[in-house]
Amino acid sequence: MARLTDAKCKLCRAYGEKLFLKGAKCNTDKCSVAKRPFPPGQHGKRRRKESNYGLQLREKQKAKRIYGVLERQFRKYFISAERAKGVTGEILLQILERRLDNVVFRFCFAYSRPQARQIVLHNHVYVNNKKVNVPSYTVKEGDTIEIRGKEDMLKRIIEVRKDLKERAVAKWLQEDKVAIKGTVKALPKKEDLDFSIQEQLIVELYSK
Ligand code: ZN
Repeated sequence: MARLTDAKCKLCRAYGEKLFLKGAKCNTDKCSVAKRPFPPGQHGKRRRKESNYGLQLREKQKAKRIYGVLERQFRKYFISAERAKGVTGEILLQILERRLDNVVFRFCFAYSRPQARQIVLHNHVYVNNKKVNVPSYTVKEGDTIEIRGKEDMLKRIIEVRKDLKERAVAKWLQEDKVAIKGTVKALPKKEDLDFSIQEQLIVELYSK
């Protein structure tokens, strides 16, 4: 298990960003990107000159890694972002951010997005009092998100929440201080993201 954790935080270093792929590590300063903020490997410190295509591809892979989305779905998101009114890149990020598994993560009910995804898949998440077990479900403004389950399961989530006190709940979400639930106050904006991404590179990549 420890090896896997290390390997995952190696990816954080590769992308120069905390990706929150595994357990609690990225939530602490033990995440390798905090300790060694340069890409892993022998030549990690050497600045690589990447082609424009390489940069575009890297930015897309980074977004896919962060949200745990595969190519097919990602492309679908891009197409709907392109059709929507507004700046395509920003809408793409907004669609990704509105995924139900991400929202569970952003409410600090889970240490990582994969863990949040499990909570959704295991039928613990209710949107507007209806069970939703689809991690890719897109939340809307005004939705209430609630975790339900057996007592020990809820206790574990309360522990996670306490543990993550320093990782604030996203500003576009309103948490209930008592129950394990909250509301989508507004749709997320680019400024609400806690990582840097050059979404226009992704748009360029798909617009070729
Ligand atoms: Zn990490």
